Amino acid sequence: MRLILLGPPGAGKGTQAKLISKKYSIPQVSTGDILRMAVAEKTQLGIKAKSFMDKGLLVPDDVVIGIIENRLKDDDSKRGYILDGFPRTTAQADALSKNLKKMGAEIDHVIDIEVEYNELLKRLTGRRTCRKCNEGFHILFNPPKKEWICDKCGGELYQRDDDREETILKRFKVYQEQSAQLKDYYGKNGRFFSIKGTGGVKGVFDRIISILEYDNS
Ligand code: ADP
Ligand code: ADP
Ligand code: ZN
Repeated sequence: MRLILLGPPGAGKGTQAKLISKKYSIPQVSTGDILRMAVAEKTQLGIKAKSFMDKGLLVPDDVVIGIIENRLKDDDSKRGYILDGFPRTTAQADALSKNLKKMGAEIDHVIDIEVEYNELLKRLTGRRTCRKCNEGFHILFNPPKKEWICDKCGGELYQRDDDREETILKRFKVYQEQSAQLKDYYGKNGRFFSIKGTGGVKGVFDRIISILEYDNS
C-alpha cells in the first residue's frame, strides 16, 4: 500500500502516519524527519536545509526530491510506504509520478487532512517530540505523563525550533501558496479523499482506516 498524506502544518499527518505504519507494517517516510535528522547530525544536507527550515520556508525541490528517490529505493519500501510531508509542491508531485512510473508502481490513496487555522495554531504551539524515538505529544491534547519525558521510551521531549508563532505563520502562508494546490492536483483522480482532522486522534484514524479498507476505486 502506497499512501500520501496531505494537510497543513499541524494537521496530524505525523501522528496518523505512525498509527498507519504500525497497523500495516509499512514505513512512515517523512521528509521533515529526514531533514531534522540531517540538521541534528550537521551533515552538508542538514546545514543547507536548516537555513530554510528556520525561516519556515520549503527546502528546494531538487534537494527533497533527491532525498525521496533515495529513500524509496530502500528495501523496507518494497511493500509500500506512507509519504508524510511530501510532496509539497507541484514540481515534487511531478517528480514523484515520474519516479513511480519508472518503478512500475502507483499511489493507492491520497488523503488530505483538514483542520482550521486556530486549531492548527494550538496544535503546533503545544507540540512536543521525543528526541530519542520521535513519538509525538501535545501539552494539552495528548500530554506525556511526566512533563518533558517520553511515555514510550523515557527520552527527552523537545519543542521544534520552527514551532514558534512567527515561523508558524510563515509556514501557513507557504502552505497556502505552494502546497494547498496539491489537493486539486490529486483531486483529479479517484483516489483522493479529504477528511476532517478534528475530533481526537482515534476519530481521525478511524476515518482513515475506513478509506484504506473500503475504497476500491
Ligand atoms: P509539519 O509537519 O509541521 O508540516 P514537517 O516536519 O513536515 O512540518 O516539515 C518541517 C520543515 O521541513 C518544513 O517547514 C520545510 O522547511 C521542510 N520540509 C519538509 N518536507 C518538505 C518538502 N517536501 N519540501 C520542502 N521542504 C520540506
Ligand atoms: P503534522 O505532522 O501534520 O504537522 P502532527 O501529527 O505533528 O502534525 O500533530 C501536531 C500536534 O497536534 C501534535 O502535538 C499532536 O500530538 C497533536 N494532534 C495530532 N492529531 C490530533 C488530534 N486529532 N486532536 C488533537 N491533537 C492532535
Ligand atoms: Zn521516546
